[in-house]
Amino acid sequence: MNLGVPTLSPDLERLRLEARAFADEVVAPGACERDREKRFPKEVLAAAAARGYYGLMVPEIYGGMQAGNLGQSVILEEFARADASTHVTLSVHNSLVCGPLLAYGNEDLKRAWLPKLASGQALGAYALTEPHAGSDAAALSCSAVRDGDSWVLNGTKMWITTGTQCDVLLLFARTDKDAPKAKGISAFVVPRQIDGLSAGKPENKLGIRASETVQLFFENVRIPAGNLIGEVNRGFNYAMETLNGGRIGIAVQAVGIAQRLVDEVASFLRERIRNGEKGRTTQDEDFRLAEMATKVEASRLLCWRAASMRDAKQDHVREASMAKLFASQSCNEIARAAVELVGPAAMSGGHVIERLFRDARITELYEGTTEVQKLVIARTFLR
Ligand SMILES: Cc1cc2nc3c(=O)[nH]c(=O)nc-3n(C[C@H](O)[C@H](O)[C@H](O)COP(=O)(O)OP(=O)(O)OC[C@H]3O[C@@H](n4cnc5c(N)ncnc54)[C@H](O)[C@@H]3O)c2cc1C
Repeated sequence: MNLGVPTLSPDLERLRLEARAFADEVVAPGACERDREKRFPKEVLAAAAARGYYGLMVPEIYGGMQAGNLGQSVILEEFARADASTHVTLSVHNSLVCGPLLAYGNEDLKRAWLPKLASGQALGAYALTEPHAGSDAAALSCSAVRDGDSWVLNGTKMWITTGTQCDVLLLFARTDKDAPKAKGISAFVVPRQIDGLSAGKPENKLGIRASETVQLFFENVRIPAGNLIGEVNRGFNYAMETLNGGRIGIAVQAVGIAQRLVDEVASFLRERIRNGEKGRTTQDEDFRLAEMATKVEASRLLCWRAASMRDAKQDHVREASMAKLFASQSCNEIARAAVELVGPAAMSGGHVIERLFRDARITELYEGTTEVQKLVIARTFLR
């Protein structure tokens, strides 16, 4: 059952306005420079932590904001509009680390980690993908072997956002190599500073260049038995359920980038002087701007619907994938149109549209590619 079109309560509208002000004042300034220098947004993140943006869905008893999935979506859209690199760092932390710890961790793990994560004392990363296990995540081979009161981890993870800057990893590893591939995987909490864990060089990416992406190598990394999240061999279910929420987060990232593109193009057209006249547009420009803005609005509503259904604990697999599919494709179409409307200036280094154009691309790739979203959606009609 769908909830219909969600609207924002006065509380959420207040959170949205506060996030917009914070993003405009603290996150947006310097975003192009950080991107150019591939500089991790440490100071911005510290300020975000102080405002409670590290614990968006974490219950108040653990020090969080308890804003739910819809609240998180509304707030993080403003971060994406300002800087997609800061957005993804926070989206992974909130959706992919705090989320599953809250959903599947035992009380000891929650008490040990959630207050630190929510307050910003600790930043989280999510380690699922491997060199030969991306879209087919169940093929992962990183192993966790029980040895007395410990688990011993060996293997390689790839494309890990915040992989060296984080304080804690949510790691998926194979605990039963003889079981069918999705049924022998477990989830663990791994402190980042631990013997045997090393990292490759940060990836030199097309977009979201101020976020960090690295390969991680586990060589006989020993963690306490109590760091297992939930039940042994249930980790793949946790990973996939977590990604339903994560997909909404990336759809929201696409909405934020696209909204900024619409705002930048509208401002450019209003200010442009052509043939001595300011703000005069052609009908083609009007039509294209209208289409861009309408796609953003439709994408946002898909995100809000999926987030509301997740909050209401309704099945939202289809809706989360639809939101990601449509929002990420629309974002890339909007980025193309923005470059065409603004012209060559938009392609010069340092122009905000140039950064947004590059940042848009990743929204169709991570947390399930466009093709994977289509497979997920189709299966919900065919099962
Ligand atoms: C910048 C960045 C940050 C990331 N951050 C993280 C992170 O923090 N943690 C983490 O665990 N992972 C992370 N990832 C990994 C990301 O989720 C994977 O890259 C993604 O899932 C795709 O997997 P892959 O790279 O192995 O590509 P592949 O799975 O090899 O896909 C290659 C192409 O084949 C297509 N394809 C694959 N299977 C099918 C199929 N069955 N049908 C049709 N087409 C198919 C894909 O759509 C794609 O176009 C990140 C990736 C990037 C680029």
